[in-house]
Amino acid sequence: MTVLQSYLAGQWFGSQAAKPLASAINGEIVAHTHDDAPDFAAAVDYARTTGTRELLKLDFQQRAARLKAMALYLQEHKKALYALSRHTGATKGDNAFDIDGGFGTLFAYASMGRKELPSGNVLHEGPVMPLGKNNHFAGTHILVPRRGVAVHINAFNFPVWGMLEKFAGNFLAGMPCIVKPATATSYLTEACVRLMQDSGALPDGALQLVIGGTGDLLDQLDEQDMVTFTGSASTARKLRAHPNLINRSIPFNAEADSLNSAILAPDVTPDDEEFDLLAKEVVREMTVKAGQKCTAIRRILVPRQHLDAFADRLIQRLEKVTMGDPDEEGVRMGALASLDQKEDVAAAVNDLLNTCECIFGGNGDPRPIGQGTDKGAFFGPRLLRSKDPHADGGAHDIEAFGPVSTLMGYGDLDEAIALADKGKGSLVTTFATKDPQNAARAIPVLAARHGRLQVLNAESAKESTGHGAPLPMLKHGGPGRAGGGEELGGIRAVRHYLQRTAIQGSPTMLAAVTGEYVRGADVLETEVHPFRRHFDDLAIGESLLTHRRTVTEADIVNFGCLSGDHFYMHFDEIAAKDSQFGKRIAHGYFLLSAAAGLFVSPAPGPVLANYGLDTLRFINPVGAGDTIQARLTCKRKIDQGKAGPDGTPQGVVVWDVQVTNQNDELVASYDILTLVAKKKGDA
Ligand code: NDP
Repeated sequence: MTVLQSYLAGQWFGSQAAKPLASAINGEIVAHTHDDAPDFAAAVDYARTTGTRELLKLDFQQRAARLKAMALYLQEHKKALYALSRHTGATKGDNAFDIDGGFGTLFAYASMGRKELPSGNVLHEGPVMPLGKNNHFAGTHILVPRRGVAVHINAFNFPVWGMLEKFAGNFLAGMPCIVKPATATSYLTEACVRLMQDSGALPDGALQLVIGGTGDLLDQLDEQDMVTFTGSASTARKLRAHPNLINRSIPFNAEADSLNSAILAPDVTPDDEEFDLLAKEVVREMTVKAGQKCTAIRRILVPRQHLDAFADRLIQRLEKVTMGDPDEEGVRMGALASLDQKEDVAAAVNDLLNTCECIFGGNGDPRPIGQGTDKGAFFGPRLLRSKDPHADGGAHDIEAFGPVSTLMGYGDLDEAIALADKGKGSLVTTFATKDPQNAARAIPVLAARHGRLQVLNAESAKESTGHGAPLPMLKHGGPGRAGGGEELGGIRAVRHYLQRTAIQGSPTMLAAVTGEYVRGADVLETEVHPFRRHFDDLAIGESLLTHRRTVTEADIVNFGCLSGDHFYMHFDEIAAKDSQFGKRIAHGYFLLSAAAGLFVSPAPGPVLANYGLDTLRFINPVGAGDTIQARLTCKRKIDQGKAGPDGTPQGVVVWDVQVTNQNDELVASYDILTLVAKKKGDA
């Protein structure tokens, strides 16, 4: 008998069997939860002490590297998870969402972390704003890891992805977490946590796992902690109102059930490719994970005159869906996650039948393919048609969390939008149209009540990742009924676990705090040109003030001929006189080139490459006779632990460049991005 274990305070814990968890495919017992009561006070304390300490021994960049190492390890060992996943009712195709999708999210966050986060554990959110006339007092924002624990309470439908999509953000941020998966499929989450543990990439205390109930866990939390939740709206309501969360202002992020829609725009007819594309999308959403996706399409809005034709297209596709044991050849749809879930879905369909008629399914499902499946949690697709789309209740209010979707007719685009809005806030809607004007009209209105909107047409369909797939780089979560929370969305997800704080002080103090050079801060000038220093030796604030150069008429003419840029401002005396500058001026790109000529140290050295510039502004005009000078200052260093193609260990150095004129006025301002070699052997 397998008894699942919690992983708390650095120990696998639990040996007495409690609740049996049955396979969704054949009803056999896969595992039992444990009966032993965890000490949640000790778990929270362990996270806040050991977890925080070990995570903050690493910086953002190092945690991103760990995340990648963990994802690679999980990828290598995923077969064990696939075998267990079958019992949750998932097909091989469904595994692409839950298991591979979970690992993909870790890879994506590892990559975004390396590209977008600094070395160190302070994230500077500029710009720095002068707060006094003479720049002795300035302000900016920093984000630092919260010194508490993130408690993640997850739904049964994505036992792996559901954990990893939340974990990626808190881990990169440097905050430990305690994960509580839904009991029904917790055996798969437990197996994944064991692999994460085995990967060697998880610092002590960074991740704890609770099998079974949360007991007094939420009572143990304090002001630095936070709770994220995915599941039903009713549980979200209950947890949001937990007295300890309210009394201590503990952030609570919810992603609850959502009555997502798909809209066939009025411009699409049955002869258009978009008609079929939307039918395909709807059926995919009904059958992937047997419709147990928070993003699945529950309401299908179609121009009234095309309702019958669209229903026929859906039915043609639904008739081909084969349901059964995912291990059997040709099975396209698996089971619901549990018999309890099957009961819930059947009850919800019954409620929906008060306002809808069933036009596909519901007359006794065909026997699921495979041995023992009569004891499984199989439930065939049901396509319903609303009798009165404007009536309250029905498909705008009742969620059947399975392969169930309801068709509704509408007259014009405004009516379609009004019907979509009756969902009271959704995670996602797909809008199928050929007409950009319809998209431009509908999307901004729909956006107020939706977390994500997919515009589907023949062109986007060639590469579309689909209505139902939340992507790591795009926000997941919707307003109102969808819970009002936000997850994913690139580095935004990391920021949820960081505290944003405004900092005021002198530029030198702000530079020290943020770890970045701030204009007006003390600079460090030495005999050594900063380009002659290796990455390791270069200090933030190390600076070079160059010699000067007077810009001449010949410079402007030569640069115009070399670049082919003969814009009137540089070459037409009469037109330039009539312009706001009143004279011919030098090309902005000449200034960039001339500044580079002033500050580079030409001989081979540790600076390996210049790969771009950021925040470029030309601030004041420069004409013939003006004299320019550049200041180059080491602004930011990012150690990604990388080596170049020839094996040279290197880091990223961002340089602040200010180009001024003879009156000390800023004429150009930008950041240069370079790769700088480390000293030999310094990996
Ligand atoms: P629940 O809201 O019942 O459970 C979600 C999670 O909350 C589970 O881990 C559950 O644990 C836990 N939980 C439940 N009650 C408490 C409590 N009092 N204190 C602490 N934790 C608690 O949702 P289900 O998983 O049962 O799914 C039911 C419905 O939720 C679905 O039919 C669907 O409508 C919706 N749903 C929405 C999803 C989304 O992503 N938006 C995803 C999945 C479901 P345990 O399992 O141990 O009870």
